[in-house]
Amino acid sequence: MHSIQDILSQIHSPSDADKALIKKAYDYAAEAHKDHKRYSGEPYMTHTSSVGYKLAAMGMEPRTICAGLLHDTIEDTPVTSEDIERNFGEEVLFLVEGVTKLSSVRYYGTDRHNESLRKLFVATSQDIRVLIIKLVDRLHNMETLGHVPAEKQQRIARETLEIYVPVAHRLGMGKLRKELEDLAFPYVYPEESKRVADILTKRFSKAEEILERERKILQKRLAEVGLIDFHTSFRVKGRYSLYHKLKRKEWDIDSIYDLLAMRIVVNSVEDCYRSLGIIHELWRPLPQRVKDYIAFPKPNGYQSLHTTVTTQNGNILEIQIRTAQMHRESEFGVASHILYKQTTVTDEPKPSMFGALIPALFRPFTRRATASEDEIEKSVSTPHSQKIPRWISQIGQTYNETENPTSDFVEDAESDFFSNRIFVFTPIGDVVDLPVGATSIDFAYAIHSEVGDHTFGAKVNRKLVQLDTELKNGDIVEIETRKSAKPSPKWLHFAKTSLARRRIKSALETEN
Ligand code: MN
Repeated sequence: MHSIQDILSQIHSPSDADKALIKKAYDYAAEAHKDHKRYSGEPYMTHTSSVGYKLAAMGMEPRTICAGLLHDTIEDTPVTSEDIERNFGEEVLFLVEGVTKLSSVRYYGTDRHNESLRKLFVATSQDIRVLIIKLVDRLHNMETLGHVPAEKQQRIARETLEIYVPVAHRLGMGKLRKELEDLAFPYVYPEESKRVADILTKRFSKAEEILERERKILQKRLAEVGLIDFHTSFRVKGRYSLYHKLKRKEWDIDSIYDLLAMRIVVNSVEDCYRSLGIIHELWRPLPQRVKDYIAFPKPNGYQSLHTTVTTQNGNILEIQIRTAQMHRESEFGVASHILYKQTTVTDEPKPSMFGALIPALFRPFTRRATASEDEIEKSVSTPHSQKIPRWISQIGQTYNETENPTSDFVEDAESDFFSNRIFVFTPIGDVVDLPVGATSIDFAYAIHSEVGDHTFGAKVNRKLVQLDTELKNGDIVEIETRKSAKPSPKWLHFAKTSLARRRIKSALETEN
C-alpha cells in the first residue's frame, strides 16, 4: 500500500498547507474505508492510496490528489457530501461528487450506446480533473482485475476499451491509454492476445537487450557531436495497438516498423531537428517514414519528429525526437496543462478547471437572457490577455483520412468518437454537445430557450461572428442577448438542431 510519505514524495516541493491537506485526506479516507476490503482481500485503502499516488506522480495539483484519495467515500461509505465540504472545501467536494456521478454512467454494450456514453462521460465530468481522476481510478481497477469475479471481468475490460481508452486518447494521455489497452486486451480478446504474445516472443526474445545496445551507440554519437543535454529511452510497441496493426497487415510482423522504438528528449526544437540529422548520418532512414509532427501536430496535440532507420546491426527502429515539454504532453496530455505549480491551496473556490483554464474572456451572457444594455457595454471592454490552451482548440479537429494508410491516423480515426458531434464551451467552461454544422443559434437554444429567443449577437473565441457561422470543436461561444431581440425566419436557414428549429417556429407563430 502507498503510504502518505510515498504520495508526498511524488510532489515537487509541496507547501506545508498542501502536505497537511493531503495527509488529512489520506487519513480521512483510511478511516472511512476501514471496514472495506478489495476483492483481493486487501484493505480498500490499497485502491484509494494508489489513485492518490498515481495522480501525484502525474503532477496533479493537491486538491485533485485529495479528491483522488476520497473518490469512493461518498458512494461506498457513510461519509456525506456535507462531511467532505466541511473538511476539505467546496472544490474537493465538487471533484469527488463529479467522480461519484460518473460511476452512474453505465456501459450498455452496443455501439450506438457507446458513442453517446463517451460523450455523456465527457460532458458529465464538466471539469477535466474529474475525468482524469476517473481514468486513474479505472487504471488501478484494471491492474487488479485478476481478483474480480470472472463474470464481471469481461464487462469491465470491455468498458475500458470502448469508453475509457477513447477518452484517454482524445485527451492526449498516451501513457495511460497504452496501459489501459494492454491490461484490458487479454480479457476481451483472449485468443488474439495470446497470438500477439507468441509472435512477439518468437520475434524478439531479447528486445530489451537489442534496444539497450542500439541506445548506447546512439547516445555516444549524439555526445560526440556536442549534443550533451538529452535523455534517451526505448519501448516495445503496446500489444493491443500491435494487434490492430497486425490485423491490417495480414498478421505479417515483418511489415511493422514501429515494434521497437527509441525516444530522444532534448532541450529545444532546434535540437530536435539537429538530432534527426545526426541520426540519419549514423543510420540509414527508411524512405517515407520521416514525419514532422512538430510542424504539423496530430489532432490531439501530439508533437514529435518520427523517423524509422535500419541500424548497422540490421534492426529496424522507430525513433521519436521531442522536447521535454512535448514529452510531458504526449504522456499526460491535458493533464500536463494542469500543472501542480499553477495552483496551490487557497480558500478560493474554483468550481471548474475548464473555467480556470479559460480565463473570463468576457462576462458570460449565456445564462442571462435579460442582460441590460449597460452590462453588454461593460463586458465588451473587459480586457483579456491569456491565450486559450492549445489542446482545447485542437481537441477535436477532424482527422486527415487521406493520410498514408500505414500511419497511425487510421488507428486514430477508428477511435474518433467526435466525428459527428462537436463540443463547444461556454465562457465559463461548461461543455455543450452539438451536431456538426451547428451554429451559434443552436448553441443559444441549447443553453436556454430564453437565451435563444433573445439572441442579438454571438462571439466565437472572442470575435464577433455572423449568427450563421458554423461552430467548430473547442470553440468558446458567447451569446449576447437583448430584451428587444426576437427570432427571425432567417434563423431557420441555419439552425441545425430540432430543438432550436422547434423553438424558432413556435416563436414565429406566436408572433403572427
Ligand atoms: Mn475507485
